[in-house]
Amino acid sequence: MEMKADTPGVRRVGVPHGPACADSGGQQMSQLTSLQHASRFFELRLESIGGLGAHAAGQVLATAGVLRMGLNGAHFSSYGSEKKGSLVRSFVRLGPADRPIRNSAPVETPDAIVVFHAALLRNPATLAGLRKDGTFIYNAAPGPVPAELAALPRTARVIRVNALGIAMEEKSRPNAVLLGTLCGAFPFLDTSKILEALTEEFAGKHPEAVASNTSAFRRGAAEFEVLAGVGRAEGDLPAARPEPAWGYETQPLGGILPVPGNMAWNDLSVSRTGLMPVLNREKCIHCGLCDLVCPDYCLAWGDGEEGGKYERELMGVDYRYCKGCLRCVESCPTGALTKETETAGLADRLRVPLFPDLIG
Ligand code: SF4
Ligand code: SF4
Repeated sequence: MEMKADTPGVRRVGVPHGPACADSGGQQMSQLTSLQHASRFFELRLESIGGLGAHAAGQVLATAGVLRMGLNGAHFSSYGSEKKGSLVRSFVRLGPADRPIRNSAPVETPDAIVVFHAALLRNPATLAGLRKDGTFIYNAAPGPVPAELAALPRTARVIRVNALGIAMEEKSRPNAVLLGTLCGAFPFLDTSKILEALTEEFAGKHPEAVASNTSAFRRGAAEFEVLAGVGRAEGDLPAARPEPAWGYETQPLGGILPVPGNMAWNDLSVSRTGLMPVLNREKCIHCGLCDLVCPDYCLAWGDGEEGGKYERELMGVDYRYCKGCLRCVESCPTGALTKETETAGLADRLRVPLFPDLIG
């Protein structure tokens, strides 16, 4: 294992591939028991948005555990009807072959949480329930650690991997990278068996993706950072069991919108999957074609200069509402809007608020 000093508070760690990673079923189970907890299952929660492949990743992991590593396993996901852009949680339980898994409830107190999109860190429920000796893996480029992560247990292991960046370079998906990182972080997970399962998942329908997924997976297992001194909380984090705001007796009468205009409070940032439109106002002719195709009312307009050529001018994008579909970029006749890789904080820096008096 290679370790070298990096930026303060960050240790770069090479892949902990030992002989353990290549062993077969029986030995895996003994390592699971010794590395984790003999009295309970290994429980994992994948926090994602639709389109990033968390469900497929959970399925590959559980399938590899059951069919290739001689473990018991269970997997399911919860998501809305929107498919892309909505919150997705995928749950995996693994245990030794002699202990059936009869629990199909969501994983509330995970041993590991994997976050597929850094914007999800703003939601406290993303961190909920992590055990004090748990592992928290999140997808983000190198840079400052988000303040929200101070809420993690002090004793938890925090791992960062630039899954989106690697996936884009390898023409793969973040799920392949994050599966690799999971294997790197947990030696009882058999790297070769999980890679086999990943390959099998895509070989039938998308054989062209196998090579790029393999590269992304291997880079995910090798290119992660263990961050030191991130969490401040003591002990296990409490599980989140949010109560609905209204129940059978208290909900408003059907058809009544008790808070009109509430869409202004939406935040669709998590729907962007690594790319965002960026406006170069020097090239803009304020034709409005981008606004015609934008499905989410993201473009902020203002009055043109006194005596100037344009009465109304495009000022910029309110990225709070932008889901990164890039239709505006495709329709812009002058190249004023371009497709850029989203780096940490870029959207916040460039954002032009649509409702500055309400949400600055
Ligand atoms: S389509 Fe392009 S040129 Fe037209 S208003 Fe939008 S950014 Fe400006
Ligand atoms: S990428 Fe462009 S068209 Fe799509 S939501 Fe964002 S601003 Fe609107």
